Amino acid sequence: MKKPPARDGTILEDDLRVHPMAHYLRMERMPHIWCSSCGLGSSMTCFIMGMQESGIDEKRVTVVSGIGCTGRMAGYLNLDSFHTTHGRALPFATGLALANPDLRVVVISGDGDIAAIGGNHLIHSARRNMDMLILCINNFTYGMTGGQAGPTTPVSAKATTAPYGAYEYPFNLPYLAMASGATYVVRWTALHLRRLKNSIAEAIPKKGFRFIEVISPCPTAYAHKNRLGTGLDLMKFYHDNSIIKHGADPREADIEFTGKIIVGKFLDIERPTFTELMTQNVAKKFGGGR
Ligand code: SF4
Repeated sequence: MKKPPARDGTILEDDLRVHPMAHYLRMERMPHIWCSSCGLGSSMTCFIMGMQESGIDEKRVTVVSGIGCTGRMAGYLNLDSFHTTHGRALPFATGLALANPDLRVVVISGDGDIAAIGGNHLIHSARRNMDMLILCINNFTYGMTGGQAGPTTPVSAKATTAPYGAYEYPFNLPYLAMASGATYVVRWTALHLRRLKNSIAEAIPKKGFRFIEVISPCPTAYAHKNRLGTGLDLMKFYHDNSIIKHGADPREADIEFTGKIIVGKFLDIERPTFTELMTQNVAKKFGGGR
């Protein structure tokens, strides 16, 4: 068995032979818990490559995750990272962004964590235009706990809590993010590797509330329950059924069970961030800023 790397983060030659991204991974946490052909691996690879491409000093990047399969990412990335409580990744990220505005704060979590238990934090963080990048990996279910219906489960998709098909309307996350105040809104699938990587590279240096949704397969819970094949089948299905429409109104981007998926960059604007407005306000009152 391979020896774990030194806990001080030293990368051993063996690690690089095992994984070309060993530098960015906590190899002592491997093997990971993700199922075979889950979309989380490719999503994390795109994040690492996008971060590299952005040229940002990785010591300035902090990753915050909530609970769930996606939430494991914070523990696997060899960056300053926080694996927080369920639904509370955004408040943790808000604290980090306010305490150290030089940090590039990235929240990576799932649809259940971000849009259900953390839904209120999502709309208010976007409303404030907090300086953070959100990578929401949307697999339409609660994978880790066995495949319950969640806030993005399409109508008629089956789940353990909806054996005859879900009958609640799902959130359209890009529309929700934009309507709440996000300044950068993008959607790709977990197989749009280059495009997702490019969007991450573009979004990391930007200011304000940036939201990237990644439509990703959960073979174990969602695909199995809905007889949609393996994770690779489903990843390919999402990719091949997507229509790239940059600048589309996210209101058109609802997702129906096994329907077409509109992807692309929907929004990229600038408006003063929470930190900028707060600094201006303090400067006006006291004649100085932070
Ligand atoms: Fe991925 Fe689903 Fe397995 Fe979780 S349960 S690791 S989301 S395939």
